[in-house]
Amino acid sequence: MLGIYAIQKFSSLDFPNRLSCILWFSGCNMRCPYCYNKDIVFGKKQIEEDEVIEFLKTRVGLLDGVVFTGGEATLYKDIVPFAKKIKNLGFEIKLDTNGINFEVIKELIDKKLVDYIALDFKAPKNKFYEITKNKNYEKFEKTLDLLINSNIKFEVRTTIHTDLLDEEDVNEIIKVLKYKKYKGIYYLQNFFDVETLDNLPPQKRKLDTSKLINFPIELRNF
Ligand code: SF4
Repeated sequence: MLGIYAIQKFSSLDFPNRLSCILWFSGCNMRCPYCYNKDIVFGKKQIEEDEVIEFLKTRVGLLDGVVFTGGEATLYKDIVPFAKKIKNLGFEIKLDTNGINFEVIKELIDKKLVDYIALDFKAPKNKFYEITKNKNYEKFEKTLDLLINSNIKFEVRTTIHTDLLDEEDVNEIIKVLKYKKYKGIYYLQNFFDVETLDNLPPQKRKLDTSKLINFPIELRNF
């Protein structure tokens, strides 16, 4: 079973250097207060897998890739055979994930069914549960190690709302990335002031990036 909630038929922004479509998967194993996909997190399957495959057949040669996002696409073990069908049509796959479902992510990588991963580093260990309501920091860390030690293209990113994470917290994350020898760019995504899972109020201040440890960082929406 796959909980495909919605499909966005075209995007030039969500898969680096690729024209793609986006599949939104319902459900999530986290409850981040800043989540703006409430309907998807609490939603149910709306679209059949076959419908998506039929749509993709009409986009062969027009789109380069398919983005799996959500919610959390790796909640569904059937994502593996589904990804295979998509790869067989000639598309690349990008996965947006919070990294908790290590086994599913590993299977996708081992079977060469994913081409790019955007991994959310939600919070440093001491704040992980507070931010995500998920106790499995160790599983996230295992996924991070897996990606760092594999050849897969990936990025690490954190959403910033300064009521939740401050400069010290971000520096804790940077220390982990340095220690693990992460070589890519660390993306900091500024909170969008929209309706969220916890009806989070707007930030009172922006993150002071001058207080961050020296590291390759890119800011999004700041
Ligand atoms: S922001 Fe958090 S709760 Fe929302 S989909 Fe992502 S991991 Fe799940």
